[in-house]
Amino acid sequence: MSVSKSRLPLIVVLATLALPLAARRLAADVRTPEAHFGFRMGADGRLATAEDIEKYFEEVASQSDRVKIVDIGATTEGHRTIAAIVSAPDNIRNLERIRAANQRLSDPRTLPADEARRLAATHKAVLAIGGGIHASEVGAAHAANELLYWLATAGDSGTLNILDNVVIILIPSLNPDGHRLVVDWYNKQKGTRYEGGPMPWLYHKYAGHDINRDAFMMNMPESRNLSRFFYTNWHPQVFLTMHQLETNGPRFSAPPNVDPIDRNHDPIIWREAGLLGSAMTLELERDHHSGVVSNAIYDYYWPGYEDSAPLGHNTVCLLTEVASVKVATPVTVSAGELRGSDRGVPDYKPRINFPNPWPGGRWTLRDIVDYDLSAVRGLLRAVALYRELIVQNFYDMGARAIEAGYQGGPSAFVLPAEQHDPSAARKLEELLLQGGVEIHRALEPFRADGDSYPAGVDIILMAQPYRAYVKTLLERQNYPVTRGAGGLPERPYDATGWTLPAQMGVDVRTITRVFDQPAMSRLTSATIAPAQVWTNRTPSYYVVDARGNGGAIAANRLLAAGLAPAWLTGEVDARGFKYGPGSLVVAATKAAPPVLQKIAVELGLRVDGLAGKPPAGTRPLARSRVGLYKSWVHNVDEGWTRWLLEQYEFPYKNIADADVRAGNLRAQFDVIILPSLPPHRIADGFSQDVAPPAYAGGLGDAGGRGLKAFVDSGGTLVSLDQAGGFAINTLGLPVRDVTRNLSRDRFFVPGSILRVEVDPAQPLAYGMNPHTAGFFAFSSAYEILSPAETATAARYGDKDVLLSGWLEGEQVIAGRPAVVQVNSGMGRVILLGFPVQHRAQSLATFRLLFNAILTSR
Ligand SMILES: [Zn+2]
Repeated sequence: MSVSKSRLPLIVVLATLALPLAARRLAADVRTPEAHFGFRMGADGRLATAEDIEKYFEEVASQSDRVKIVDIGATTEGHRTIAAIVSAPDNIRNLERIRAANQRLSDPRTLPADEARRLAATHKAVLAIGGGIHASEVGAAHAANELLYWLATAGDSGTLNILDNVVIILIPSLNPDGHRLVVDWYNKQKGTRYEGGPMPWLYHKYAGHDINRDAFMMNMPESRNLSRFFYTNWHPQVFLTMHQLETNGPRFSAPPNVDPIDRNHDPIIWREAGLLGSAMTLELERDHHSGVVSNAIYDYYWPGYEDSAPLGHNTVCLLTEVASVKVATPVTVSAGELRGSDRGVPDYKPRINFPNPWPGGRWTLRDIVDYDLSAVRGLLRAVALYRELIVQNFYDMGARAIEAGYQGGPSAFVLPAEQHDPSAARKLEELLLQGGVEIHRALEPFRADGDSYPAGVDIILMAQPYRAYVKTLLERQNYPVTRGAGGLPERPYDATGWTLPAQMGVDVRTITRVFDQPAMSRLTSATIAPAQVWTNRTPSYYVVDARGNGGAIAANRLLAAGLAPAWLTGEVDARGFKYGPGSLVVAATKAAPPVLQKIAVELGLRVDGLAGKPPAGTRPLARSRVGLYKSWVHNVDEGWTRWLLEQYEFPYKNIADADVRAGNLRAQFDVIILPSLPPHRIADGFSQDVAPPAYAGGLGDAGGRGLKAFVDSGGTLVSLDQAGGFAINTLGLPVRDVTRNLSRDRFFVPGSILRVEVDPAQPLAYGMNPHTAGFFAFSSAYEILSPAETATAARYGDKDVLLSGWLEGEQVIAGRPAVVQVNSGMGRVILLGFPVQHRAQSLATFRLLFNAILTSR
């Protein structure tokens, strides 16, 4: 007894000191994914639920000292977004030190070059891997479980070397809400003829497939969470995002991508994408996975994807895509069905970037999992091998960005305090701050590029590590057109112009030359400068300056408070301030002051209380009953519109095909909004071959008759962008869209910012800047066939129509009506010919939609 008493503590101490933590926990403790889930990842017809994936990740973390779970943030519907941080036990114990060092590397102003070199010699590379942002692309979320198991348990020297050198942030699903919806729908349809078919709603509550196109705008919590995690916390040197592509093309697509590139980024970033992409494709070939392509399909131009916004933060982004199955249901593709792609694979034959075509056959979710795992193994090996270079490049890219900023051209962007739309300016500053951008406020007047600026303007200096990000978002795009066979322009993967100051209607000045900086303080949040309620003791009425998008919220709040607001149709002078048409007028009742005070403070809108008779020229406002059409064809434009209505405090009701077909719409609604969708989709929906009977068919003839009766009896029908074609056909409107059926060489605008002119004296344009900008993507311009029944509220510019991006065939739309009101029966149809609320990004033109609603009673 005495012997063991004296010996036991010693043994425990020795064991603790001598053995690495990993050895104290047996790999055998960690269950395989198959043991946890009850089926092998990728098994035909089997899907892991989001809850179960979370549980598995937690379970592995509780049993492995190589794994730590962190929360990235809550989703739109309040679910967790988790990440496993995986590395050698020693790195996991020192995670905070590694993170802090990485943060210093991300900002070379905090770390001298020689110190950075010393740090790079030992620092761990940080690699983030995410899957499932497009929730129906379920392969990566399943591969993630096997990847985690492998990294948590393997004892071979190759894996240990990876763990020693790399901190891996593994995010099984970037869209956990969508994963839930997809699994739920798939399981319900399983065993029916609709197994693996399209879900009749979006796989993100608002953004659907666009959830990966919100990365700079950050309207959705998912985007903000990832930005915070990346740009202010972890600063990964490399980010791999795993997607799936169509069934009949290449099996797997890896970087590098195709032209064009965004030339603001450091050339190193493309070379590293090429290096790491090749490491993935090499591993895939070694594993005998055929059908792998690179230099194809996807370009590097638009900055709004989850895998392009981080480029502006010096993170090397890698996009992979694997051929899809029907969610978890296998497909069979015959050799004859296989085809290449316009970009990079003109025909389905061996070529330098596609040396080993897949011959066709059965293709399963397990194949997707295998390809993903193979690619990740190649990537991990390369990141471990090139660790020091990757870390050093990350620092160098930041250093060069700062150096470029000091050279000017531009040296800064400046936002004057006085803005037409204070809420839009706030949103722009907010998204920049959320993107890790530094903004300063001038504390004294200064001069730059020959102009004088007062204290209080905001300055974005270009000498910051994320210079490329800011420059890309704020400058004008001159799209480098690429041409394919026959000299015809190639269609870009997404938009060609996005210039945020134009699209959002915010006054941002470019400072080209280096200037003497004034005293400044750094902004930590974006705010609206509160406005004042000017009044004497006994006003008889109030006027509210309702310009910009805040003006629509003001109208809705006054309506909600029962204050019976009216729109001013003329002008009112108050204490030297001129209120124009579209300003809001309310009687000076007891209930008014607190509501108005809140509007002035929160929305930055000036209010004046005035004595005497209220102005004669007003137009009363009433709360409209809004119906928002929701097709069973999942439609992101409906989701964005719905989100926008909620943000701007418009009550609404979604209406489905059957509601419209049932008629009697006028008794329920004042205005019905048709979100953008090709006219045949609105009319026909999905056929019964594709969607279950409850979700098949569109509005059909009965729906068309219902809408016509609605308009005839005084309703307002609003069509967004492509839905205009449906409205014109169905109601026989005397309007022709001049952009239809033109070949690419005559007219081609695949997503650009165009000059738009409005008359703010017209109610549809109330609150707008007369010279504004609209987003246009395969959109419409009109010829009016019967002027007596129509009014034009907005036109494209007469000349210099293109403000940013790419426009082929300006003369087709120059000066043409863009927004048209057609009177029909006792009601009207408002054709919004371009996406005025595009992805909730085009703040400059939101009011066209809002005013269409506000004028509908
Ligand atoms: Zn995708």
